[in-house]
Amino acid sequence: MTQQADLVVIGGGPGGYEAAIRAAQLGLSVICIERRVHKGKPSLGGTCLNVGCIPSKALLDSSHKYHDLKAGYANHGISTGEVKLDLAAMLARKDKVVDQLTGGIAQLLKGNGITWLQGSGKLLAGKQVEFTSHEGEVQILQAKNVILASGSEPVQIPVAKLVDDVVVDSTGALEFQSVPKRLGVIGAGVIGLELGSVWARLGSEVIVLEAVDQFLPIADRAIAKETQKILTKQGLDIRLGARVTGTQVANGQVTVSFTDAKGEQQEVFDRLIVAVGRRPVTAGLLSSDSGVSLDERGFVAVDDHCRASVPGVFAIGDLVRGQMLAHKAMEEGVMAAEIIAGHHAQFNYDLIISVIYTHPEVAWVGMTEERAKAEGFDVKTGQFAFAVNGRALASDDNQGFVKFVADAKTDRLLGMHVIGPAAGDIIHQGLIALEFGASVEDLQLMCFAHPTLSEVVHEAALAVDGRAIHAIQRKRK
Ligand code: FAD
Ligand code: NAD
Repeated sequence: MTQQADLVVIGGGPGGYEAAIRAAQLGLSVICIERRVHKGKPSLGGTCLNVGCIPSKALLDSSHKYHDLKAGYANHGISTGEVKLDLAAMLARKDKVVDQLTGGIAQLLKGNGITWLQGSGKLLAGKQVEFTSHEGEVQILQAKNVILASGSEPVQIPVAKLVDDVVVDSTGALEFQSVPKRLGVIGAGVIGLELGSVWARLGSEVIVLEAVDQFLPIADRAIAKETQKILTKQGLDIRLGARVTGTQVANGQVTVSFTDAKGEQQEVFDRLIVAVGRRPVTAGLLSSDSGVSLDERGFVAVDDHCRASVPGVFAIGDLVRGQMLAHKAMEEGVMAAEIIAGHHAQFNYDLIISVIYTHPEVAWVGMTEERAKAEGFDVKTGQFAFAVNGRALASDDNQGFVKFVADAKTDRLLGMHVIGPAAGDIIHQGLIALEFGASVEDLQLMCFAHPTLSEVVHEAALAVDGRAIHAIQRKRK
């Protein structure tokens, strides 16, 4: 007998599982198909929980603690003994965090009455879904609605083919069993910077080869410049305009050939991470008569509400246009579930936060100064440094600044950009302000608690009009 459901979700990553849960909350019968087997166990949570956001942040936090402790706390009046690295224990802790969270998602699906089918899903014509279990049994499901949430996978490049444990993608870079002496990274994007930082803190000499000659082109220029300066000081050797032309693996090492402004070059590494972007997973997802169209870049084509080209079929997350971010996938999943349940729902694509979890963190929301100018705004900006913030100084973590971009004509905030301690959390103040259409004056008039890192947000808003208190600003009003 054909199994029926109000909703079949293909993919149990952050987009898919949040869609499934929200739909179940709204009273729909839901089946979620997820095929991932992680370390021998069927696992929900997608890239994010298994091999992405969570394990990378676990290693970022562990390596940060190790590096801090090794550098010493003498200036705090704390002396420590010899600091040793137990990499196996560090990796095991990461795995435990992953296990706890993926197990938690399985409980959430169960508790919400959602059926998790372990295996692969393929959309057929007429909103039928072919499910193939890991054992190869095939079953046809009839869905009233379908959400495609198959996510993404690392882009591979012919000049740097993956070779077990030597040339790896981001997943392999979470599993090195020893600290590479010399580590190469292709791509100075988010993954390159985060995972490059992890291994640099643990002792690797890290060289990052980036094809483009501008650092972090999507970030505000002031933030990108400061980030490059700080990360370089931390030991990341970032080579811009470096085009990799080939790699050769021999005796457990990899020789990377590349060209940059200085001409043809070679570097020899113990390990190489290829982090040059991700692409949508569409192989085996759609039958030829499913009716679902792809766009010119191979993503499932959707409108602003994540509706695909077949009525009742939605696609979300990394599988569709836009930034590949877990929180974007989650909100799209919730939006799609609500629309399917007959509710009005929308998602503000202009206000998606970006965070790079280096130390200090880098985060932004809304427009960069460059984009606001390109869009014709009469722009005013304000910037304030953590260097003179009492709380940042007290904790000895005072690099970076907060920058606001605003419309000089209306005083409306257009963007917020932060590099500094807890930037990934502080940035949410900008999200809320922008979402509510706040003016710079709204922020100036608020009373921020003292002593907090957030006082830098207040001062940056004051600085827009030349009236920051803890800086000598010439403007008199
Ligand atoms: P995915 O998480 O990729 O989930 C899709 C799931 O669908 C997969 O588990 C896959 O097995 C399954 N699937 C695919 N096809 C089928 C099929 N036919 N049948 C059944 N199942 C199928 N984002 C952030 O916002 N913050 C971060 O800090 C962050 N860090 C990251 C670090 C790394 C190293 C990486 C690689 C990514 C990181 N990301 C981060 C990106 C984030 O992981 C993705 O944007 C997010 O996981 C996308 O969610 P999704 O649900 O669209 O897809
Ligand atoms: P990315 O797009 O952020 O960066 C890839 C970089 O590689 C770019 O700078 C690009 O110019 C460069 N590049 C491409 N081809 C190259 C080549 N042949 N040689 C040298 N450089 C080359 O992609 P990523 O870092 O792989 O991350 C993939 C996705 O995962 C991103 O979309 C990102 O949003 C997401 N992610 C997010 C986070 C986070 O939110 N903190 C963390 C990790 C990953």
